[in-house]
Amino acid sequence: MIISVASGKGGTGKTLVATSLALSLIDNNKIQLLDCDVEEPNANILLHLALSQRKRVYVPIPKVDETNCTYCGKCAEICAYNALAVIKEKVLVFPELCHGCGACSYLCPESAITEEGREVGVVERGDSGNLELIQGKINVGEAMAPPVIREVKKYIEPANIVIIDVPPGTSCPVVEAVEGSDFCLLVTEPTPFGLNDLLLAVEVVRKLGISCGVVVNRVGIGGKEVEQYCLREGIPILSRIPLDRNIARLYSEGIPLVKGIPRWREAFLRLFQDIKSMIIDE
Ligand code: SF4
Ligand code: SF4
Repeated sequence: MIISVASGKGGTGKTLVATSLALSLIDNNKIQLLDCDVEEPNANILLHLALSQRKRVYVPIPKVDETNCTYCGKCAEICAYNALAVIKEKVLVFPELCHGCGACSYLCPESAITEEGREVGVVERGDSGNLELIQGKINVGEAMAPPVIREVKKYIEPANIVIIDVPPGTSCPVVEAVEGSDFCLLVTEPTPFGLNDLLLAVEVVRKLGISCGVVVNRVGIGGKEVEQYCLREGIPILSRIPLDRNIARLYSEGIPLVKGIPRWREAFLRLFQDIKSMIIDE
C-alpha cells in the first residue's frame, strides 16, 4: 500500500504527519518512508536513523563528437527542453536544461552523439527494526528533482506499507512523487492561504486519479473555509491537529509527535484504518 503525504505549500506539517504515521505503524508492519522532498529532506531530523547507504544519481546528457557532426541541426530541433543549439559549426549543450530523454542521440543521423552522466543528487538509505528510510537529495542549485525522486521510488517494495513525503507545491516533482500512490493525504492549514494551496493540490491528485483525504493542521489559527470546501467537494477530513505549543516545541527539538505525546499514536492508527477502508471501498 502506497500512501503519499502532500501539501500545496511548505511548512504545513507534511513531514510531521508522514513520520507520525510511519512510527505509529512500525510495531506490526514493515514501513518504508520515502522522503521525496529532495530539495530539503527533513524526515530524518525526526527519525534519527543512520543512513549507511549512499548512491549518486546521474542524468545522461549528450556528448557530441564534432568530427562526425554535419551540423544539420536535427538534435536541436528535436530537443523539447532547448538544451541544444547548433550555431554555424558548433553544437552547444546546456547540461542544466537537459532532461536526459535520449532523443537527440537516438535521432542523430550521423551517430555523433553519445551520453555521459551528470550528477544531480544522491539517494541515502538507512533502517532500524521495521522502519526503512530512503531519502533523496538534489545538489545545491540543481533544478532536476524528478530523476532523484524516480531513484528513491525504485526502492519501493509493494508488500510493505510505503509512506511518501512529497515535495511541497503542485509542479513536476509533486506529480513524480505522488504518481502510483493508492491514496494521497493532503495536509493543510485552516487559513485562506491553506485553502488556496489545497485547491491546487486537489486538482493535481484528481487529475492523477488518486483518491485523497485531508489532515488539517494548526486547527485554531483560522476560519472554517477549509472545512466548508471539503464538505462541498466531498473530501473527507481524516484528522485535525490543533495549534499547540507543545507540538511545535517537540518538532523544533527533533522529537516525533507520537513519541513526545504517545496518545497521538492512537489517532494516527485510526487515520491509517480510515485510509485502508477508503482504499478497499475503491
Ligand atoms: S543531429 Fe547529429 S549531426 Fe546533426 S547537428 Fe546534431 S549532433 Fe550534429
Ligand atoms: S537528452 Fe533529451 S533533453 Fe537532453 S539534450 Fe538530448 S533531446 Fe534534449
